[in-house]
Amino acid sequence: MKKYNFNAGPSMLPREVIENTAKQILDFNGNGLSLMEISHRAKYFQPVVDETVALIKELLDIPEGYSVIFLGGGASLQFTQIPANFLIKKAGYVNTGTWAKKALKEAKLYGEVVEVASSADKNFTYVPHNYEIPSDLDYLHITTNNTIYGTELRKDIDAPVPLIADMSSDIMSRPVDVSKYIAIYGGAQKNMAMAGVTFVIVKNDMLGKAPRELPTMLNYTTHVDKGSMFNTPPVVPIYSLMETMRWVKAEGGVKEMDRRAKERAKIVYDEIDRNKLFKGTVAEEDRSLMNICFVMNDEYKDLEAPFFEFATERGMVGLKGHRSVGGFRASCYNAQTIEGVNALVKAMKDFEAQH
Ligand SMILES: *Cc1c(COP(=O)(O)O)cnc(C)c1O
Repeated sequence: MKKYNFNAGPSMLPREVIENTAKQILDFNGNGLSLMEISHRAKYFQPVVDETVALIKELLDIPEGYSVIFLGGGASLQFTQIPANFLIKKAGYVNTGTWAKKALKEAKLYGEVVEVASSADKNFTYVPHNYEIPSDLDYLHITTNNTIYGTELRKDIDAPVPLIADMSSDIMSRPVDVSKYIAIYGGAQKNMAMAGVTFVIVKNDMLGKAPRELPTMLNYTTHVDKGSMFNTPPVVPIYSLMETMRWVKAEGGVKEMDRRAKERAKIVYDEIDRNKLFKGTVAEEDRSLMNICFVMNDEYKDLEAPFFEFATERGMVGLKGHRSVGGFRASCYNAQTIEGVNALVKAMKDFEAQH
């Protein structure tokens, strides 16, 4: 049966990315060696890193003076590495959910941290807007898409201080004004690649200012200076990342990804709002285009498990909402298709007709 993949991460990738990566795993560029067997320092692999960096810079229109590096440890290690490198005295964090809270917690190990705004009062069902940002912060940390709660900022805010963003789950889904940020990071496994690699975009002239001695591996300068080759990089995940960036470019770039995201999300949210069985979980203006969360309407609560089963029988995978929200979550990253969201909407309509 055809599967429709709504997994939140690791998540759906373009079919050709998977096929091309599989081919290179069997025989890398006709060299008779697998992508898994070559040295990362061999002349074979350097062009992959170079092209991946160049494509990310081109697609996001990254200005001069920034580096793109590939690391291990996931976005979760960045929660530590960001403050270790950038927190001098005081940092601000916007608390918009589970991941934002984890980032804030780690930053406290390195200095004073202010929670500048929070949506905890309504269980993270909205994104705070129009809050005051102290002008003496070293940086303001935001999470542009809240993967678990299904809220999204979807713009680059104006702030009197440099921004740092966790863009794990919306990177490459819209144009970004990178010049407003001194760092952008994320696990690549949501919208860019297979699991195993973390991307970090850093502003070079902001490095080396932290008033502490950093372990070599935690110092961004180490990885910038060595072009992500200080230690062995995750070769296969980086290759899959390059293939995805080629695909994004060939499909029309981040503007086209943005258009598609809006088109897909409208189809699903329109049905959530129309269908008597379901309701959305977050403030309308902050609805995520990437992770669409919805629950059964109160009078149909007992139909949750039956709908899940109904959708599963039609090939839908990964629809279960995160345990802190419940209900359903349809993740619609770049590779998600109109066919996929139409199949979901059809299931919602057909299920409604039965009840
Ligand atoms: C998935 C996710 C993370 C955690 O990523 P890991 O690579 O697993 O550490 C952090 N932030 C956001 C917004 C995420 O979606």
